[in-house]
Amino acid sequence: MRNKIVAGNWKMNKDLTGTEALLEELSAKLPDTNAKVMVSPTFVNLANAVQKLKDSKIEVIAQNMHFAENGAYTGEISANMLLNIGINTVIIGHSERRAYFGETDEILSKKVKAALANNMQVMFCFGEELEDRKSGNHFNLVESQLKNALFDLDLAAWPNIILAYEPVWAIGTGETASPEQAQEMHAFIRKTIAEAFDTDIAENVSILYGGSVKPGNAEEIFSKPDVDGGLIGGASLVADDFIAIVKAI
Ligand code: PEP
Repeated sequence: MRNKIVAGNWKMNKDLTGTEALLEELSAKLPDTNAKVMVSPTFVNLANAVQKLKDSKIEVIAQNMHFAENGAYTGEISANMLLNIGINTVIIGHSERRAYFGETDEILSKKVKAALANNMQVMFCFGEELEDRKSGNHFNLVESQLKNALFDLDLAAWPNIILAYEPVWAIGTGETASPEQAQEMHAFIRKTIAEAFDTDIAENVSILYGGSVKPGNAEEIFSKPDVDGGLIGGASLVADDFIAIVKAI
């Protein structure tokens, strides 16, 4: 089912003390909402965060995982390790993973399949670089990112997929896609999925926008019909800002 979702990508921020403090403030200030609210502390603080939020409606999700079940992959974390501590959703394909850690479409496809095989929910991130948008190649690029990582999935996999369109030029830059640019791309994504799979899948998948969403622009972006919420970086680290964004949905 198409859900409204606001998810915080904490990246490599907040130590244990900072994580606990932010989670406490978020829990205390969370408004009554039908939207799903998610936060993603760093790996080392995930188990603690799950415990801390056990009576809260806020879901703890992971920022990444490896595709292998286990083995000689120093520094990596498997789906089972996440499930074991109560994490059921994982972000895959964030542009920072693609840019700084060499994650290709091929690797991401394996990760998506491994998460789904373990009955996890995947928040799949994708989006164009500034040069792609300037040269008018952004639709092609987004289509190929989706195709390479997701289009060989079974129809049955789709209820466990959340999409997060994140134009790289808008991430952490303070520059956001206009609500119209976001809507135009989200509608394109839905059409592309309808053509590759079917209309039901396309209508039911939640598509989040990510890229400098702030309290001041969230409501306008979220008001667009094909935008089902946001993946929030910087503003998710400030409780009042994140809560304001949750209220905007
Ligand atoms: C992100 O990194 O997913 C993101 C959207 O960051 P920011 O909100 O800071 O642009």
